[in-house]
Amino acid sequence: MQKSYIIGFPRIGEQRELKKALESYWSGQCSMEQLQSTADMLKSRHWHYQKDAGIDCISSNDFSYYDAMLDTAQMLGAIPRRFAHIKDEKKRYFAMARGSKEAVAMEMTKWFNTNYHYLVPELSLDDRYEIDAQKVLDEYEQALQEGVETKINLIGPITFTALAKRSDGGDAMELLGRIEEAYEQLLARLSTLEKQPLLQIEEPILATDRVAELLHLVKPAYERLCRAAAPCKIAVATYFEHSVEAVKELVETPVHAFALDFIYGKENFKALPAIAQSGKHLIAGVVDGRNIWKNELQGSLELLESIAKEVPKRKLSVSTSCSLLHVPYTLEYETKLDPEIRSWMSYAKEKLQEVSLLKRLFFHESPAQDDLQALENNSALFAQMKRCEKIHDANVQKRMRERDKSQRAGKFAQRIVRQKQRLNYPELATTTIGSFPQTPDIRKVRREYKKGAIAKAEYEAAMKRYIKKAIEVQEEAGLDILVHGEPERNDMVEYFGEMLEGFAFSQNGWVQSYGSRCVKPPVIYGDVSRKRPMTVEWITYAQSLTDRWVKGMLTGPVTILNWSFVRNDLPPSEVSKQIALCISDEVNDLQDGGIGIVQVDEAAFKEGYPLRSKDRKGYERWAVESFRLSVSSAREETQIHTHMCYSNFNDIIHTIEAMDADVISIETARSGNKLLHIFAQTGYKQEIGPGVYDIHSPRIPSVDEMADQIEKLLEVLPKEQLWINPDCGLKTRKWEEVIPSLENMVKATQQVRRKRS
Ligand code: GLN
Ligand code: ZN
Repeated sequence: MQKSYIIGFPRIGEQRELKKALESYWSGQCSMEQLQSTADMLKSRHWHYQKDAGIDCISSNDFSYYDAMLDTAQMLGAIPRRFAHIKDEKKRYFAMARGSKEAVAMEMTKWFNTNYHYLVPELSLDDRYEIDAQKVLDEYEQALQEGVETKINLIGPITFTALAKRSDGGDAMELLGRIEEAYEQLLARLSTLEKQPLLQIEEPILATDRVAELLHLVKPAYERLCRAAAPCKIAVATYFEHSVEAVKELVETPVHAFALDFIYGKENFKALPAIAQSGKHLIAGVVDGRNIWKNELQGSLELLESIAKEVPKRKLSVSTSCSLLHVPYTLEYETKLDPEIRSWMSYAKEKLQEVSLLKRLFFHESPAQDDLQALENNSALFAQMKRCEKIHDANVQKRMRERDKSQRAGKFAQRIVRQKQRLNYPELATTTIGSFPQTPDIRKVRREYKKGAIAKAEYEAAMKRYIKKAIEVQEEAGLDILVHGEPERNDMVEYFGEMLEGFAFSQNGWVQSYGSRCVKPPVIYGDVSRKRPMTVEWITYAQSLTDRWVKGMLTGPVTILNWSFVRNDLPPSEVSKQIALCISDEVNDLQDGGIGIVQVDEAAFKEGYPLRSKDRKGYERWAVESFRLSVSSAREETQIHTHMCYSNFNDIIHTIEAMDADVISIETARSGNKLLHIFAQTGYKQEIGPGVYDIHSPRIPSVDEMADQIEKLLEVLPKEQLWINPDCGLKTRKWEEVIPSLENMVKATQQVRRKRS
């Protein structure tokens, strides 16, 4: 078995080449062939990076044009009926991902507790699965031709099915048997490959609580799959948590190896005796695939030694904890980072070196002098980091100790009366989530200002022109509560991070979020504080232009935390509360500036949830506390909104309630009113804006369609409690799409209001 192992590598390209190629293909500026050649170049480059770093076990089929779950659906022939008429395979693929004129896109949701989004497969009893292995084979063959013998990455059937939904009602798991049959066909095909590649089958669902309901399926499934794959061997990979229950089942099947996460799944230790006894291989994920800090080599070697006490060294490999998809490519382009902070960091390419080095240090009888030196330097670096003054701010620590008020005054029932009097908005009040199209113009101005190419006055004038246009558009469309449009923000977290102390910013630290979209998470390396107001000037300017109310727009502490790479020398709960104190100062400045409504977005609240229920209470406690702390300065008559990019609140409804926001907006367009019932059933009192149209697609929804959607909402919740808004921010859309969509949304609302009055 190979000794250094990488679960998977990012694909968007270190200069986001794939993003650019995809977007120009979508806009008709480049051909499919050009897109394909970019893809081939990237695959090849990534294999060679790994090979050159001395990685023994490299993947194929970790590339995707959009998403691996979508690829899997395509491979199985699980094509939702509304796309079946599209004959061109690539066109159909992108239509499923992004929607088309006739058909709404497939639902997209977050991949476990990451900020990567996958497309939710839609299964139905009518499906006829038939394997199309072309993509898998092509990638494998391409690598071979380039002299790289790869393992083949596949998403496992249990995870695929468990994450799918049924378009005809019923439980997706009922179709597992048929999905498995299709996988059997696939594996049988792969088993004929001459070099008998290792098959890495990823089953992260088995590292979550859902394993309880799925456990009985694991053994029969993998007995089947192993039989079909022989003589190819199967390595089952799980990540983000432990998968002890499943491993204990799988040791009794012909599965050859387990890839387990020892960073976020320490409990995997409990699986070691069973693995040892079965004589199977263990691929030990000891290099964090989700964070950008350097590996503490000494600690990892000790971790590996303690693993080796149970599983013999000859049966061990060293690996990343998960795919490197979740970290940026390389520090090579980071020329502007503070060199000291940079010296603490490690991206995907650097992590390849770490895995390789750990392999040599751990497995070689007498490691090379250079490697020993590297180990020593690494230990010295960590010792020095612990003392570094850049990290510790006495004032922040004092304020954290002495903070007295952690929640706002007044109960919701009182507050809402005062707010309604003051703000005087109608029933079914219309609003948006905050951002408006990020036009090439506005991006350019920001970029130039950042570079120092234009003066502050010019920058501010451009921002204000945009804000003015945004206000005009909204007044014309007839919206009730307006926003300033967020032109000054390239990203809702980065913007705040840049204004706060304790954050560092990379130049090229892009991580794929969905499809062609990437985010560049800030790096929180030290104590966090606010030096000056961050948004007041923009929001109060917007408010000065109109008689309607303008919502202030902030990002919440939990989201800032969850979308950043966070220091790991302090518990996240503490980092989160440091941020919350800064936000509460901002809320206070906004209300002092005459702003009546402040939205504190917690788009990423849910994705921070631990995957195992035993850890959930703890997270909920500090996450809710952080949010409440962040709005603790709000007066009763200041209305606090929050926004979350989800639709399913079933298991966290009481936590959402405990956040005590006056109004919450959520994503519902893709799921109708199905998931809204929980708010009614639990007697949720605060106001709710369930999105009435999907903003992920360029499609302009019609008045009737949205009126229907509003009527559906009204079947569940009373009009006094409802707000009308899109699913999420509009920054990824174009004005030509946004203006008619909002006009239609307002018309639809008026139509419903008229009908009901
Ligand atoms: N206010 C932000 C926006 O409109 C919220 C974005 C989000 O929820 N992801 O863009
Ligand atoms: Zn959102």
